Amino acid sequence: MKNLHIYNTLGRKKEKFEPINPPNVGMYVCGPTVYGDGHLGHARAAITFDVVYRYLKFLGYKVRYVSNITDVGHLENDADSGEDKIQKKARLEEVEPMEVVQYYTNRYHENMRSLNVLRPNIEPHASGHIPEQIELVEKLLEKGYAYESNGSVYFDVLKYNKDHKYGVLSGRKVEDLYETTRELDGQKEKRNSFDFALWKKADEKHLMRWNSNWSKGYPGWHLECSAMGQKYLGEKFDIHGGGLDLQFPHHESEIAQSVAAYGKEPVKYWMHNNLITINGQKMSKSLNNFITLYELFSGQSELLEKEYSPMTVRFFILQAHYRSPLDFSNDALLASEKGFKRLMTALNTLEKIKTDEKSTVDVLTIKNTAFEALNDDFNTPILISHLFDAVKLINSIESGKESISSKDLLILKDFMNGIIYEVLGLINEENDSNTELTDDLIKMVLNFRLEAKKNKDFATSDLIRDKLAELGVIVKDKKDGFDWELKK
Ligand code: ZN
Repeated sequence: MKNLHIYNTLGRKKEKFEPINPPNVGMYVCGPTVYGDGHLGHARAAITFDVVYRYLKFLGYKVRYVSNITDVGHLENDADSGEDKIQKKARLEEVEPMEVVQYYTNRYHENMRSLNVLRPNIEPHASGHIPEQIELVEKLLEKGYAYESNGSVYFDVLKYNKDHKYGVLSGRKVEDLYETTRELDGQKEKRNSFDFALWKKADEKHLMRWNSNWSKGYPGWHLECSAMGQKYLGEKFDIHGGGLDLQFPHHESEIAQSVAAYGKEPVKYWMHNNLITINGQKMSKSLNNFITLYELFSGQSELLEKEYSPMTVRFFILQAHYRSPLDFSNDALLASEKGFKRLMTALNTLEKIKTDEKSTVDVLTIKNTAFEALNDDFNTPILISHLFDAVKLINSIESGKESISSKDLLILKDFMNGIIYEVLGLINEENDSNTELTDDLIKMVLNFRLEAKKNKDFATSDLIRDKLAELGVIVKDKKDGFDWELKK
């Protein structure tokens, strides 16, 4: 069954997945810079690699999954100039930068828990790995691929390009970079505008700074992932992932840093998830075309008609292949909500259907085609279309049009539950054990009330009804008992 193929951005082709040291797999994914509320883009990256992580484990690999938290060194506009994003937030809110980091890290974790994203095995913070980053800068200086200038240290892209090839991941050529890199402040310190910072000297106002041989300062943004990836996964590991927006310059710089320092490509398979558009436009705060997870879960946004559950959002994201752009709209979410409910209803039906001596249905073909889709670079939309084939099949068995043997039913249950819960990480929200418990408790209380009525104890019966109404449970008396509903 281990026939997984992954599209490798490095080389731009699908390749059979063969880990460097099976059954171990090392996987690194660039995590968020924690200075604002999580948005749909964060959810897409996290869910994409959550499914990769889940499927690799499902296949029996022993995965070490590392995903960092960027809490220092990520400057505005992703350039080597401008204010540190976290420091800026701290200045505006008059709090410590680490308060900003803690607050948004907590929010990020809460969002990920709602979306049923598994926590990585290691979640290192950039600020907790300053010595490792300083060591890497020293190594790059020693090897002649970095230079110091006015207390800052820069990576020498031209020198690197002479000895190795720069731009292997993004396909950019050094000649083209002359035109695309802008002249910004701090550029005078650089030999070339496209050289990137490994260490930046900090001025007095800068709150997050550390001692080094060069200056009191802070590491460049690209450095943390090279240093922490190497520390936890070794000089060469299997998978490195992140959003398409990180391919250049972030990941390109990571490759250059590692090749220059250790003499080898750091990663075997590079994976990038595509971005989110909103009603066909790029998601951007300035265009007022931006949606946070809080807004999605609460419905508090002009772009939304109503709130959507975390599992609807997760299902919506899985309905597009991770390498395709995903266009967000209220209508698309409504459709996902409907589809997700249909799938969950079928899972409930599956638990109740009766078996026959013989099957008239072919469960093995559905199972095999579903795994083929997953093995084809995690093609979740095709996989989901096969799951809907299974839904049709379950409904026809239930209505008596088709029949299934007990052996086939076991295969079908095992396959559907494995794919939907374990690999896709979906949760049947309606079957939540708390909901079941609540239902049972309400029924129990209403049975006591029925008993009171039978004994003509109307005071108790009315009291129970009124108290339940206060809790939002509306009781309707019927001839043969009762019915109830939750006030919306
Ligand atoms: Zn990174």
